[in-house]
Amino acid sequence: MKKLISLLICAVIVFCSASPAFAAGEGCNCGFSPIIYVGPLGCTPIVRDSGEETEQQLWKIDTGFLLSNLKAVLPELSKAILIRDTDMLSDALVEFVNSCFGDLALDSEGKSKENVTAPELNIPQGNKHGIDSDYYFDYDFRLDPYEHADRLHDFIEQVKALTGHSSVKLKCSSMGGVVLSAYLDKYGYDGIDVIICRCCPLLGTAVAGEAFCGKIEINSTSLTRYGEDAIPFLETGFADDFIEGTLYALLDTLRGAGVIDGICALGDKLIKDAGDKVFGKALIPVFGTMPGIWAFVPEEYFDDAVKFMNLPSEGGLHDKVYAYRNAMANIEDNLRAARKDGVKICIICGYNVQRTPLVTLWKSTSDGTVDTKYASLGAVCGDVKEPLDESYLSGIENRDYLSPDNMIDASACALPENTWFVRDWLHCNGNAGIDELFNLVMTSDDVSVLSFEKFSQFLEADDDADTVYPVTGAPDEYARFKARPSYLNFIRLLFSFFKGLFKA
Ligand SMILES: [Zn+2]
Repeated sequence: MKKLISLLICAVIVFCSASPAFAAGEGCNCGFSPIIYVGPLGCTPIVRDSGEETEQQLWKIDTGFLLSNLKAVLPELSKAILIRDTDMLSDALVEFVNSCFGDLALDSEGKSKENVTAPELNIPQGNKHGIDSDYYFDYDFRLDPYEHADRLHDFIEQVKALTGHSSVKLKCSSMGGVVLSAYLDKYGYDGIDVIICRCCPLLGTAVAGEAFCGKIEINSTSLTRYGEDAIPFLETGFADDFIEGTLYALLDTLRGAGVIDGICALGDKLIKDAGDKVFGKALIPVFGTMPGIWAFVPEEYFDDAVKFMNLPSEGGLHDKVYAYRNAMANIEDNLRAARKDGVKICIICGYNVQRTPLVTLWKSTSDGTVDTKYASLGAVCGDVKEPLDESYLSGIENRDYLSPDNMIDASACALPENTWFVRDWLHCNGNAGIDELFNLVMTSDDVSVLSFEKFSQFLEADDDADTVYPVTGAPDEYARFKARPSYLNFIRLLFSFFKGLFKA
């Protein structure tokens, strides 16, 4: 009898611990497989000496730490500027960059210093799942994307076990697309029923490619536009609209008066004089050691970047950087194969936002961070704020994938039927309209740019109204002001009027 009771107790324990929420062998029948959100760069803090008295968060860098490092080099820095000694200036900058970021550097095997870790990485917990609930997958952005792929594989298995579902949905933001690319390349798409890529640098981003080739430039038009495009997203609190409008006017006036040109010329001279040393002694030894950052370099820049960044010709770091080239080269085929097998796919990217104003390729249309052509897997795009060339437009045979503003031709994308474009959408900015599209993607049987009446292939983001509208034609400041008569939009209208006048 005793034996029987203990056997029974054992059975109960095994039964209960195998799957806390479900009877053994029984799955969840809610009909909605769980969502795993694969976060962007910086999704988790990176810390030096975690748990010790000397603990310091290195990423995202905290302002106090930044300022204390700046304070240390300030005397040297100001003296260098005063006596115009670029050698001294670059030494001070090198010291500053290294004191802020130096400990983030990886070794020649692509491994972190032992005391620099991401101590708060999530493990899936609980079985709560549904359209408004996701499991957050985070990672140390510096490391090899295939290491994240291995962890994501375990994470997916744990989520499946916790929820009693045999598949999951992957929603990837920005660098999450890098993790996805490595994952699909190594593990395939088994057990995945939906893939969403939101502003993902699937084929890289020009800012990384150009920076890793040393092509840095400060240009007044791009600097002004970058500021102007960022203004509507400022959280200034009181009198938002008035401050935004005033800043916009100020930027445009400064550019008109040549002030910004002057600042840029000074910056360019500085880059020319001090750039080599800052690159060689600070930027290359820190960021050049991170396979995660290498994953942003587009194929067309890669060979030059290997030379410029002095990537070692062998060893762990070399192997990890090169391994990811396969993930990037295969992402188009991997997604096509997944779609063919019934995986529902939504790739969505922004366009017509001025990109980071530090690289020579500042005309490349983007969401401000990731170029539209790389996020969309191959769209042909006009320069930022411009339509495609007349000669290109007149040669297009299939106009089904041409945007109504003539800025984007999506026919060359890897998956044109599954790729959406949002004009004036800043990189990964929250937007309730776009979230609504994601919900449709996750709950519909048929997912393509023709599936949802409200969400055509080309949309325009309205940040103030927190929604998107179908693009019907070229950007029109008058129409924008009529729809939303704010002070900022009035200033925009006024300036576009003057610009038109000067152009004519
Ligand atoms: Zn369920």
